[in-house]
Amino acid sequence: MAKKQFKAESKRLLDLMVNSIYTHKEIFLRELISNASDAEDKLAYKSLTDDSVTVKRKDLKITIVPDKEKQMLTVSDNGVGMSKEELESNLGTIARSGSGQFKAGLAEDDKAAGKIDVIGQFGVGFYSAFMVADHVTVISRAWGSEEAWMWQSDGADGYTVTACEKEVPGTDVIMHIKDNADEENYDQYLDTYKLQELIKKYSDYIRYPIVMEVEDYRQKEKPEDAGEDYKPEWETVKEWKTLNSMVPLWQRPKSKVKPEEYNAFYKEKFGDWQDPLAVVHTSAEGAVTYKAMLYIPSQTPYDFYTREYQKGLQLYSSGVLIMDKCADLLPDHFRFVKGVVDSADFSLNISREVLQHTRQLKVIASALEKKIKSELLKMQKEDREKYEAFWTAFGTQLKYGVVADYGQHKDILQDLLLFWSSKEGKNTTLAAYKDRMPEDQPFCYYACGESVEKIARLPQVERILDKGYEILYCTEDVDDFVMKGLREFGGKEIKSVTEEGALPQTEEEKKAAEEKAEAGKSVLEAVKEALADQVKEVRVSSILKSGACCLSADGPVSIEMEKYMRKLEGSQQMKAERVLELNPDSAPFAALKKAVDAGDKETVGKYSKLLYAQALLLADLPLENPAEYTELVCSLMI
Ligand code: ADP
Repeated sequence: MAKKQFKAESKRLLDLMVNSIYTHKEIFLRELISNASDAEDKLAYKSLTDDSVTVKRKDLKITIVPDKEKQMLTVSDNGVGMSKEELESNLGTIARSGSGQFKAGLAEDDKAAGKIDVIGQFGVGFYSAFMVADHVTVISRAWGSEEAWMWQSDGADGYTVTACEKEVPGTDVIMHIKDNADEENYDQYLDTYKLQELIKKYSDYIRYPIVMEVEDYRQKEKPEDAGEDYKPEWETVKEWKTLNSMVPLWQRPKSKVKPEEYNAFYKEKFGDWQDPLAVVHTSAEGAVTYKAMLYIPSQTPYDFYTREYQKGLQLYSSGVLIMDKCADLLPDHFRFVKGVVDSADFSLNISREVLQHTRQLKVIASALEKKIKSELLKMQKEDREKYEAFWTAFGTQLKYGVVADYGQHKDILQDLLLFWSSKEGKNTTLAAYKDRMPEDQPFCYYACGESVEKIARLPQVERILDKGYEILYCTEDVDDFVMKGLREFGGKEIKSVTEEGALPQTEEEKKAAEEKAEAGKSVLEAVKEALADQVKEVRVSSILKSGACCLSADGPVSIEMEKYMRKLEGSQQMKAERVLELNPDSAPFAALKKAVDAGDKETVGKYSKLLYAQALLLADLPLENPAEYTELVCSLMI
């Protein structure tokens, strides 16, 4: 019988299928099962409107039969089936709407190689059978017809359609699986374990049972007359098993899902051994329709801050997995969220490039971002302990989010941030900080350092605390960047305690300070001369109370930034312009003045170096020459 030729673009596609080298061949099964499920759907729908269709929904099922000896794999359904014409038009050409994009891609020869991966990721329906099979037979009998037809093809060189027998309506897709090739193990598609794994992975939520005969190795029942020395016997039993769980948890109404079920799903799906901290089950209808089930893990995944960690949500289209980690559904600052999104708005064969640019994806992503934020805020208000656990696990990520992309996301994130409060002795939100601010407090204050204890002892902190103002103690590298990124909160400027002007002076104070600076001018000049280029300026401090000295920075680079940059290997060292601040009311200042007045240059030099070293130590900066410093201290003892 003469073979009929495939339409041109189908032929191109088949070529790609047959010769494809990518690693996603396994999706052929998902594609065939989806087709089978659609055929069942169509019949189920027909039964609603057509009295002659007597089939019951519960009888609809998809059957998988591997046959290792014959090297055949069959996927059968008892759905609507296809007439002769349907077989020809459906399987002889790419007739599907969703393939338009794909066809466009195929037209460009040079791009074809790149497109191969697209097939792998998203599948192109029935033709994917040719990725694993060298001969495909489709036997189909349309519902309500007595005739059955057999479509056969070896791939690119066309197909035949002949009359045949089939007892019941529906479709069998029979694949003769390819021989193993060098790097391709086609055998695995005949292995019941592998098939079960693939069905669980891709087709778990198909709404009809997917059944297969599987072997189970189990203990025989103990005979009643078994004696004392009875040893258990084992046997292999074959039994039909339903392989898919059918109803996705996220399709069930929230009230019908128990917390244990949410947790079990999370642990199984995302390979965590701990329960999640929170689950968000949400849906939308309208411009875009979707259901989503999102989880916040309770611990930082071990690889979270490495390059290996991939963010993303699983994307389903009506229960069929189309992408395992859809990164575009999650902003980076919420990259710890795991979960699934199911939307019938995406077709199965949508390509990655097209998907990325769909409006639906953007709409869903932005709705989910808002939802995650509101859920976290709710947790922050209603279950602070839980929120603190969340903060410990992922707080740093949120801070990075504030700094990233030129501060684009800070409005979304600022309410979620926590910082250590000098007043509360525990974490606080910026909003709570602001609520507690006395009316006369000019700025929101923060101070950076290695630990809360160290920060609390910084000389600059004292005077601000004395005023009854609260300071946010920041112990993470990124904090200074976060605060500088935020700049203000609720209309109040955020200021580091080490910044000049952290405590604005009254006119009186200003005058007094000027007088002191004037009186100590000779000291400031002498110290600057002694330290030369090590500092940009030596000035009278307006912030020190009992401390004798501290370091501050002029210009855009803060001391904290310099410290951070020091830690980054290979980074160009960015240096803060250092300013040594001296407390004119302190005893060391008086001692300095005495030496200056006496014209004792040597002592002035020693004292200056000593004070500068103290300031460096207080700022957690390394001494340039520790040996010299020790000698200096010792020389003052004798
Ligand atoms: P898609 O399923 O995305 O439309 P396919 O290439 O997989 O594309 O299939 C083409 C068409 O063939 C389907 O739209 C459907 O009409 C028909 N078809 C495929 N498999 C079956 C089946 N098992 N039962 C009935 N019709 C089928």
